[in-house]
Amino acid sequence: MRSDSSLNSVLGVYRRFSGLRWGLVGLALLLVVAGLVLGLGDGAVEPGLLALAATALVTLATLQRLAERSLRQRLAEADVQRWQAIDMAHRDALTGVYNRAYFLSQLQERMGRGGRIPVGYLQVDMDHLKALNDGLGHAAGDTALLHLTNTIRRLRPEAVLGRLGGDEFGVALIGEGSKPALLRLGEQILEALRQEVLIADRMMPLSATIGAAVAPQDAEDVAELMSRADLALYRGKRNGRSQVIGYDRDMLIDERHHRFVQRELRGALLLNEIKVYYQPIFRSDGTTLRSYEALVRWHHAHRGVIPPSEFIPIAEQSDIIDRLSEAMLRQVCADLPRLGVPVAVNISPVQLRRAGFASRFAAVLMENGVSGDRIVVEITENVLMRAGGVESANLDALRALGVRIAIDDLGTGHASLEYLRSFSFDIIKIDRSYVAHLLTSAIDRTIVAALCDIARAVNVEVVAEGVETEEQLAALREIGCHAVQGYLFGRPAPLALGPDALKAIASAA
Ligand code: C2E
Ligand code: CA
Ligand code: CA
Repeated sequence: MRSDSSLNSVLGVYRRFSGLRWGLVGLALLLVVAGLVLGLGDGAVEPGLLALAATALVTLATLQRLAERSLRQRLAEADVQRWQAIDMAHRDALTGVYNRAYFLSQLQERMGRGGRIPVGYLQVDMDHLKALNDGLGHAAGDTALLHLTNTIRRLRPEAVLGRLGGDEFGVALIGEGSKPALLRLGEQILEALRQEVLIADRMMPLSATIGAAVAPQDAEDVAELMSRADLALYRGKRNGRSQVIGYDRDMLIDERHHRFVQRELRGALLLNEIKVYYQPIFRSDGTTLRSYEALVRWHHAHRGVIPPSEFIPIAEQSDIIDRLSEAMLRQVCADLPRLGVPVAVNISPVQLRRAGFASRFAAVLMENGVSGDRIVVEITENVLMRAGGVESANLDALRALGVRIAIDDLGTGHASLEYLRSFSFDIIKIDRSYVAHLLTSAIDRTIVAALCDIARAVNVEVVAEGVETEEQLAALREIGCHAVQGYLFGRPAPLALGPDALKAIASAA
């Protein structure tokens, strides 16, 4: 088959000769007219010959015309095939929806300049895809993604679909400017996903988190529309996933605040405004210092001391958390000789998800000549962990260095007992909400006692957090808790005061 370009050049030749075609027709006409005028009457021109010549000329012209038309048709077909090929090349191989770049260009084209055509946009993020991939294999993850896109296609065949990232999809409805209708579609998608589907030989429901925005009400162009839906999606994820959230203006203010804090935090790291405070942890006799917990504080030039709850969640959304945490660890290493007992550092779930986390941690210890057994890493119970996943590989690598692992805030997540069963750790920290109700709630007391029993059985230590009164200390000692931490023994304080002052604060508290 000839390529498009050779078809094109043949067509060019035919076009050039289209002048010739009119020439031929003209000549035929001329012949007829000349014959009529000059000699038909006196027999000088043979009429049969004249008719034959004119017919030949017109036939030639017609043939040329037909050839050109057929060529044009073939070119048009080749064009359709080429467009289909381009379209295919811009589709995601697994789900068949548009890839990110093509989706954006399609959206831009259809939305038009100035955002005059209303567009409803959903940003859909499949929940727990990573866990599915890690736990049941990539084929299971693929099946789930395909089920998601098929579900959307079934509900709204006319929607323009694009895959924006591993587990993220864009759904655009051209001409749909009503947010309530868009939110309803989001709910329908979730409802459909809740119907169990066969994945890796088992029936299971799926879920997704969806952010919704409409143009021109929420955004003026494609980029704005997508970023606003993304903001709503992010809010949905923070609220616990599996929901549809519509964008509203307050989210933007929130986002600006986040960006502001992020910028300030980067500056704070450079200006050494990030400080380590230490809080003592005692044996449950209440007098033997066992270790310290390092807690971050931001000494802001104008706003004073800022607690971690105001900036850690924001730092966790970028690499700032890694830099902040490394700065903390370096300071802890430097302070260790003066503190004299091991120190616990807090590690965020997002850090544990980074493949190189443990090796960077080990490098900092090496550089400072600190042996692993001087350090405890506290991770919250809310880290979603699977055997063989990055998180547990990081923890295994840390334990190989002699670092001990503590499960922080035990009892606040949904996975407490599952955790105790499946992971290797050295210490559990009972959340202060249990300690606060120890004397008034029989249930809380029973839970704390049960956790201490389990800990004894598997030979791990139990630290109770938030101990504020002598009565709580007595109850914890009776239950068999190993160690205690709380305002009764000392508030977090900077070592700049000197280790003796720290100990004095501890014993005076
Ligand atoms: P956490 O790890 O559970 O830390 C214990 C928190 O309880 C600390 O709050 C501490 O000041 C507070 N606390 C200690 N004793 C008592 C008490 O007797 N009563 C009461 N009411 N509270 C007590 P802080 O320092 O504000 O830290 C809050 C959270 O911020 C920490 O909770 C931890 O999750 C996070 N955090 C602190 N420092 C870091 C850090 O360097 N890195 C990371 N990733 N997170 C950190
Ligand atoms: Ca902690
Ligand atoms: Ca804690």
